[in-house]
Amino acid sequence: MSAPEIRLHPLNDHDLRPEGEFVLYWMVTGRRLSWNFALDRAVELARELEKPLLILEALRVGYRWASDRHHRFALDGMREHRAELEGSDVGYHAYVEPEAGAGKGLLKALAGRSVGVVTDVYPTFFVPRMQEAAAEKLDVRLEAVDSLGILPLKAAEKTYSAAYHFRRFLQKTLGEHLTEMPVARALPDRPLPAAGHIPDEVLDRWPAASQELLDGDEDALAALPIDHEVPPVGARGGTEAGRDRLSAFLDETLARYPDERNDPDADAQSGLSPWLHWGHLSAHEVFDAVAKHEEWSPARLANEADGKRHGWWGMSEAAEAFLDELVTWREIGHSYCWLEPDHADYDTLPEWARETLADHADDPRDPCYTLEEFRDARTHDELWNAAQRQLLHEGIIHNYLRMLWGKKILEWSESPRRALEIMIELNNRFAVDGRDPNSYSGIFWTLGRFDRGWPEREVFGKVRSMTSKSTRRKVDLDRYLERWGDAPTLSL
Ligand SMILES: Cc1cc2nc3c(=O)[nH]c(=O)nc-3n(C[C@H](O)[C@H](O)[C@H](O)COP(=O)(O)OP(=O)(O)OC[C@H]3O[C@@H](n4cnc5c(N)ncnc54)[C@H](O)[C@@H]3O)c2cc1C
Repeated sequence: MSAPEIRLHPLNDHDLRPEGEFVLYWMVTGRRLSWNFALDRAVELARELEKPLLILEALRVGYRWASDRHHRFALDGMREHRAELEGSDVGYHAYVEPEAGAGKGLLKALAGRSVGVVTDVYPTFFVPRMQEAAAEKLDVRLEAVDSLGILPLKAAEKTYSAAYHFRRFLQKTLGEHLTEMPVARALPDRPLPAAGHIPDEVLDRWPAASQELLDGDEDALAALPIDHEVPPVGARGGTEAGRDRLSAFLDETLARYPDERNDPDADAQSGLSPWLHWGHLSAHEVFDAVAKHEEWSPARLANEADGKRHGWWGMSEAAEAFLDELVTWREIGHSYCWLEPDHADYDTLPEWARETLADHADDPRDPCYTLEEFRDARTHDELWNAAQRQLLHEGIIHNYLRMLWGKKILEWSESPRRALEIMIELNNRFAVDGRDPNSYSGIFWTLGRFDRGWPEREVFGKVRSMTSKSTRRKVDLDRYLERWGDAPTLSL
């Protein structure tokens, strides 16, 4: 099975080189060995051309916010991949840069011996720039494949200003894509031409990551030039851990999701965002698991596209509420980032939001905190500090409080632009699901993206505001505050 045409994104004009030694899959953001259209495409080419498949999974150290936390999560996945592919017909090179820039030339060296290179589509962070640069440098075909969401990125031709409009569009178009699934089978089970070996001169210059590093050896991680002030989170990375969480969520929690999702004490969310972010878990696999859980088939889809959150899928209220987050909210952000390369710039906020925030630029900010005060959870607000402490320790904030967290940074910063910088810095440095299209959806939502105007207030203007007081009234927080209210901050 191959990837649908609509998911293929050739990045240069070179042809495949049939005399090459192997097909190279440059795994960048879809870090998994099943449910992956990019991998399916690489497998298809390997079969057609009767060449082995070689996977390069690399981890740079020079990217902004590289830390023990992000590395550990990614390394857990790499350990799994090495173990799974050991002794199989697929070559696998796990490379971790020992210093910034050390990996330069590795892709070119492998690509130069390959038939062609397949990689993952990803619409944000340094990935688009890195892949564009690679496309220019390589003298062989480089093709990116979109395995990011249920809706292929190319299917939407314009950005949507609100979830309602995007949902209506999904309801008209998604049906045809729901039956196009990537292969679920683990890669070693899929017959391929004999093993692709890694050339010795490549291994000499860019040696494979040590088993100690992949296994979690603290000294090996400490030797890397990354931010050691941000420690790993308790949760394990990798597909296995993501799947465990998915099945626990479906078996034990999904039924409570619609009523209790916003309640921090209820712990009724899936908690899947870190695995989705790192590509350890595919949205297709999650969707398929939900569909099986619901004994669902596409025949149940409604004919009418009314843009409403419930009723279109033909599933239980709980499953539909969950899919609205997984598909509508997750993918409106993918689509936006894909179509708007400047999505991380303040000036891409809707005009009404920029205007109203500018009208309130001179409103007094009292209190007004610095980045460091926010970072160290030193505000006057117990609830905000608790959310920041959860972020520091678990690399995540409960969704409802994440909204409050962002809104308050807007309220207590010297300007909306400074608030944006602070949110991006804190979210992307500490959140294990950070540096994701969803990061920019969530952060920019607090400033008005994907939202509408609300009654005017100080500082916020017509941008929706939130208060800790009303949050405390609406949701249960006793256990949350008990857990995070007094937790120590990190020594940063
Ligand atoms: C200021 C702010 C910053 C955020 N930063 C991030 C981030 O860095 N990374 C990230 O993945 N999400 C981010 N979000 C969105 C959201 O808070 C998280 O996706 C969600 O809390 C993850 O928890 P979960 O996996 O239990 O979600 P569930 O409720 O179980 O939802 C399932 C999946 O749907 C998607 N999803 C859920 N809520 C949203 C949402 N509001 N917007 C977009 N997708 C959503 C996620 O992929 C999530 O894993 C941010 C939101 C805000 C307000």
